[in-house]
Amino acid sequence: MAEPLIYELSVPGREGSKAPKLDVPPSELPAELLRTELPLPEVSEIDVTRHFVRLSQLNYAIDKGMYPLGSCTMKYNPKVNELTARMPGFMGLHPLQDPGTAQGALFLMYHLQEYLKAISGFAEVTLQPAAGAQGELTGVLIMRAYQCDRGETQRDTILVPDSAHGTNPATTSMSGLRVVQIPSDARGNVDLDALRAQLNDRVVGLMITNPNTLGLFEEHIKEVVDLVHGCGGLVYGDGANLNALMGVMRPGDVGIDVMHFNLHKTFSTPHGGGGPGSGPVGVAAHLVDFLPSPVIVQIEVEDEDYFTYAFAAPAKSIGSMKAFWGQFGMLVRAYTYIRMLGDAGLREAAEHAVLNANYLLSQIKGVFPLPYERVCKHEFVVEGKLETAPDIHALDIAKRLIDYGVHPPTNYFPLIVHEALMIEPTETESKQSLDNYAEILRKIAEEAATAPELLHEAPHNAPVRRLDEVRAARKPVLRYQREP
Ligand SMILES: *Cc1c(COP(=O)(O)O)cnc(C)c1O
Repeated sequence: MAEPLIYELSVPGREGSKAPKLDVPPSELPAELLRTELPLPEVSEIDVTRHFVRLSQLNYAIDKGMYPLGSCTMKYNPKVNELTARMPGFMGLHPLQDPGTAQGALFLMYHLQEYLKAISGFAEVTLQPAAGAQGELTGVLIMRAYQCDRGETQRDTILVPDSAHGTNPATTSMSGLRVVQIPSDARGNVDLDALRAQLNDRVVGLMITNPNTLGLFEEHIKEVVDLVHGCGGLVYGDGANLNALMGVMRPGDVGIDVMHFNLHKTFSTPHGGGGPGSGPVGVAAHLVDFLPSPVIVQIEVEDEDYFTYAFAAPAKSIGSMKAFWGQFGMLVRAYTYIRMLGDAGLREAAEHAVLNANYLLSQIKGVFPLPYERVCKHEFVVEGKLETAPDIHALDIAKRLIDYGVHPPTNYFPLIVHEALMIEPTETESKQSLDNYAEILRKIAEEAATAPELLHEAPHNAPVRRLDEVRAARKPVLRYQREP
């Protein structure tokens, strides 16, 4: 039987806390603001504790088990990041505090900018955007501002490969620009002929993800960049998936002009259920003047051996992208992560991410069809479609995984793979945990052939059974309602 929720445990007069003794003169409350009826549950402290702990256990989380959600990089969030983010000097800061009294925070922000520059090969970085998607918008606005500044106002088109994350075309539309889709070739790369055919003086640029969402390294990245530059366009790198490149290859070095990072993916800060995330943007030298305002600068103090830190406005700034200075708590976590790992550690994390993905792929290859036979980077995509079980879909496999206590991969994305299952184990999983996931997948493939109803009806032992996902998204029930 389901355990009762707190709302049903209410007993009139039971209480979990006491208001402190009044230490100000009593005064009348404004009647128009008071509700006559407010049916809050009357419960004790232990009821409240149990309620919230129980709710937290209904959620799946990276702290509970493997979470190989492709493209999302659900790596473990080291607890030391939480310790630093909660240090009173950081946690108690007010965004409107005089910068002179927040030098430690500005020092951290400045050096995080510097680390991200060193990792990516860009000339400058803004920490302002609150997510990858907002970083994309920032980057595209910068590209457009740069071209308008050169008098090329006729440019209105962004090229987006068909394997791109949905945020790329969405960003383009948000920027008031036109999207033209570029198909992939048989090896999963951008089709160069199709790209050439779209290059002209209306192109603002190309948005490219490398490794792309198939987990494949773009084999002609240099050529793609040169082609786009050749028509006066710029190249936007979707750097959400930097996990395979960190410490190995720098996007700025191959001529990418602008790129966002996802601190809540590559740099181990929590995704936080839709926010706050953090999506800093790096730009090459010719775009530095267009960055959002402010950036953090380091100022030499005459005759002293220390620096001070201040906010500065780039000369042709596109303006501010977000209130205040970015998701500061995320910046502290990412800074901690980078400092804890160091140069060698970051590279090792990327190498292990790639090794783990290829190992897991090797364990399920032959069980699920693999559309592109290549060595993968941080993730790979198989088809959730089995010859032995024609009625089974990727969704059935995903839901059955829940019964085995692990999180499903991303499914039905990228759109160019039929019944896609997109698996990204990340570097923080051990061989045992990868073996366990592979064994579960093989077992499910077997069940698909021998007992398909098990998959069709899954999940069987989750807090909720199979949901109508469209209705859940369009008409979410966000408030507890007692069953009649
Ligand atoms: C996650 C992701 C994004 C968007 O990042 P958000 O922080 O979710 O807005 C963009 N592109 C790719 C490839 C991603 O994986």
